[in-house]
Amino acid sequence: MPKSGNDTLLSTNELMIGGVSTSFLAEKYGTPLIVYDESTIRKQIHDYKQAFREVQADFRLAYACKAFCTAYMCQIAQEEGLWLDVVSAGELFTALSTGFSPKQILMHGNNKTKDELELAITSQIGLIVVDNFHEIELLGELLNQAGQSIDILLRVSPGVDVHTHDFISTGQQDSKFGFDLYSGQVEEAVVAVKKHPRMRLMGLHAHIGSQIFDAEGFAVAAKRMADLSKKLEREYDVLTHILNLGGGLGIRYTEEDTPMPLETLVEEVVLAARKAYESDGMSLPLIMLEPGRSIVAEAGTTIYRVGSRKEIPGLRTYIAVDGGMTDNPRLALYGAKYEAVIANRMNEKQKELVSIAGKACESGDMLIWDIELQKAKPGDLLAVFCTGAYNYSMASNYNRIPRPAVVFVKEGKSRLVLRRETYEDLLSLETNDDFS
Ligand SMILES: *Cc1c(COP(=O)(O)O)cnc(C)c1O
Repeated sequence: MPKSGNDTLLSTNELMIGGVSTSFLAEKYGTPLIVYDESTIRKQIHDYKQAFREVQADFRLAYACKAFCTAYMCQIAQEEGLWLDVVSAGELFTALSTGFSPKQILMHGNNKTKDELELAITSQIGLIVVDNFHEIELLGELLNQAGQSIDILLRVSPGVDVHTHDFISTGQQDSKFGFDLYSGQVEEAVVAVKKHPRMRLMGLHAHIGSQIFDAEGFAVAAKRMADLSKKLEREYDVLTHILNLGGGLGIRYTEEDTPMPLETLVEEVVLAARKAYESDGMSLPLIMLEPGRSIVAEAGTTIYRVGSRKEIPGLRTYIAVDGGMTDNPRLALYGAKYEAVIANRMNEKQKELVSIAGKACESGDMLIWDIELQKAKPGDLLAVFCTGAYNYSMASNYNRIPRPAVVFVKEGKSRLVLRRETYEDLLSLETNDDFS
């Protein structure tokens, strides 16, 4: 297959990503392979910024890198002027090692360890989102030891249930994250923070969940944050300079998903927040959003090689591929749904109803239940769409299956970003130590 850039030489029956043919990518880098179309990532970021400008809001956009965190992705975020939202020292270390500006990093986590907070302090990151009372005391102590100050937000659990999947909805009251709004924990936290002058309380944070398709839940959360801000100003003499409404903006995985266009959604969220603050006699603080999925999910496609087939008469046909839950655990975890095509014959009219299985030793290792797909033969390439978020970052070595390679494509060119794990990599952490 000729290399891309020369689309006319390629059969129109083949899936192209960023101007590169999938068969070329599979040949060059092997399968399974996660392919990112870089221009899609940059376009999403552009749409976010455009929406903020449209409603003339003072904003700060952070990329929640837990969705997909590599050095190259951090570089793109930096080039685009984004902040980076990290949730562990591992993510922070990755970002810092690429030269990402620490001043534009914020750190989350409901149980940040002493080591993680120390790294955050010594690197002088821009913001820590403080989650609980233990953290206030620990951070206060570490700041005193270091003789340093840091900006913080308080993570509020606003009690908003956005009717999303239980495992990924974090805003309702029964949540492990943040200070509970209803029982007055936020005010208690403000009092506790005031005893630590090295913590500069800049504002509030509320993340209501994931895969959210409209602005309603954000509007409810923003109103509660506005009311809270008013109370904090009156009773505690605390000004809210920043309102961080988290991430969670949804994307279209299949036709069942009907998110609003990104720009419209962002605009509605900001307008709702502005209305909430103005109705309480305040002006809109700086609005921060920290999306992960909506930046990278649609940019990613996973290419698998088709192998075995099992037909159970009158019941189901399983098509097995050379990856599965080890590179994409989202069906197993959340019941996530995906669309896919046979990439080398994507326009073929004749289709059959099949289910796509992975190769791991686990019945739950499925990628798609019931999809109308071009008739798959061993050696065909299967492309599963929208695998850019929470796939590689949740990948495992279950069954000692090496994690796949990741490439980025742009204008007909490809670039290896993460090499495929080798069997030697799988052994690289093992030691021969004796008991002692
Ligand atoms: C997961 C998470 C995000 C990103 O969520 P997406 O659904 O990927 O946009 C942002 N902020 C916080 C606090 C999160 O936990």
